Amino acid sequence: MEATNSSDEKDKPPSSGLEEPDQYETAHNKLTSKRVLALKNQPQHFSPLRESLFQSTSQTESATKAKTLPRKTIVIGEQTAKFRGRHYENVPDEQWNDWRWQLRNRIKDLPTLERLFALADDERHAIKQHNGSLPVSITPYYASLIHPTNPHQPLRRTVISTKDEYKFSPEEAADPLGEDGHSPVPGLVHRYPDRVLFLVTETCSVYCRYCTRSRMVGHKDTNVRFNPPQWEYALQYIARNKNVRDVLLSGGDPLTLADNRLDWLLSRLRQIPHVEIVRIGTKVPVVLPQRITPALTNVLKKYHPLFMSIHFTHPDELTPETSEACCRLADAGIPLGSQTVLLKGINDNVETMKKLMQGLLKIRVRPYYIYQCDPVLGSSHFRTSVKRGLDIIQGLRGHTSGYAVPSYVIDAPGGGGKIPLLPEYFQGWDGQDIVLKNYEGKVFRYPDRFGAKKTHSDSDDGGQRPCVSE
Ligand code: SF4
Repeated sequence: MEATNSSDEKDKPPSSGLEEPDQYETAHNKLTSKRVLALKNQPQHFSPLRESLFQSTSQTESATKAKTLPRKTIVIGEQTAKFRGRHYENVPDEQWNDWRWQLRNRIKDLPTLERLFALADDERHAIKQHNGSLPVSITPYYASLIHPTNPHQPLRRTVISTKDEYKFSPEEAADPLGEDGHSPVPGLVHRYPDRVLFLVTETCSVYCRYCTRSRMVGHKDTNVRFNPPQWEYALQYIARNKNVRDVLLSGGDPLTLADNRLDWLLSRLRQIPHVEIVRIGTKVPVVLPQRITPALTNVLKKYHPLFMSIHFTHPDELTPETSEACCRLADAGIPLGSQTVLLKGINDNVETMKKLMQGLLKIRVRPYYIYQCDPVLGSSHFRTSVKRGLDIIQGLRGHTSGYAVPSYVIDAPGGGGKIPLLPEYFQGWDGQDIVLKNYEGKVFRYPDRFGAKKTHSDSDDGGQRPCVSE
């Protein structure tokens, strides 16, 4: 349903999951068939740490080119163009660049996977074994970034299942964050005092094998119904609870919803006076960048202040398409932050993370969080030690721009919320001095006269621990 001046009409839930292509998009698709670019000088090889697309001079030129193009144009990276030429040669540009076509043609079954990739026995058996939630599903676009023969390539490991997924460890749980226990109405998690998590769909364009919500995404047989009547309960809860000033839309991926549904949801949230900000958690700009159409950004920018947290995993995802999508969102005034799950053998080293974080800044996304991988069922092959995460933060802080250093957090099992972790820059106290270690490991002192004074005279711990956090 398009926006209307009638408040009665506007309050009705949209009846259809897929909007009709509007006039603008039809015209846009005609244009793209003439204007699609196969950018030159993109990396042509796959490697575990493929060169970031924007690292070299030629890559920077590509990024600049993408930024200066008229916003109706959709770029196509050269690697994707080659893949498309090999496997989708009869698909015209306007279909390839149509997000609905990409969603309809997600790669989900074994024969199609076998056609595109040389599957390892391990992958083949795991896919045959699958039953229930978290199916394999990959957009043709994202498939173009996956190595056709190497099962160890980082992106491939995140979306094609292996038998390790069926090995459960004692510390793992289907709902490791205890979300279901903090859910006052189905589909809504209220854990922190002033904000809620609003799960609006069970659908994602691509299913990550380490998904914390694997219990509920990717199939319709969950206890929760993600549909407008269900949303109504959540909206009423938010309206009743005046302390909720921040609503995070997640799922599943909210940007798999049609424009008219998003428009309706956002307009309903904006009618609640105490909702100050709305955030959207999504992986769509990374796995389905075609979804970021001018029509979508026109919807989103009506509802500022609106923030977006984008799920990135690896520098191989920093393609011209994703750059274009993020620039469109940024041009619409949406502050963009990244969220990255620390994954063993995928992004668990300083070099990869630095390349990702620096690349994100180039496409106007502020690195926000690195998450320790949640102990969800069947994820032990993805989890690293916490020390590995701390070492990565230590390898970033001071070694690159502060803007490129996200917070490293553990989402505490059982519902304790996000807890930040820092390497030991703070070494302790020596008299009135705080002893600190810098990024090179050199020791410095800061004369904390005011903190120390309070401690010696006022604290109840015998003057042993000055209060440095007041
Ligand atoms: S995009 Fe998010 S919700 Fe969807 S499968 Fe990946 S981690 Fe889970």
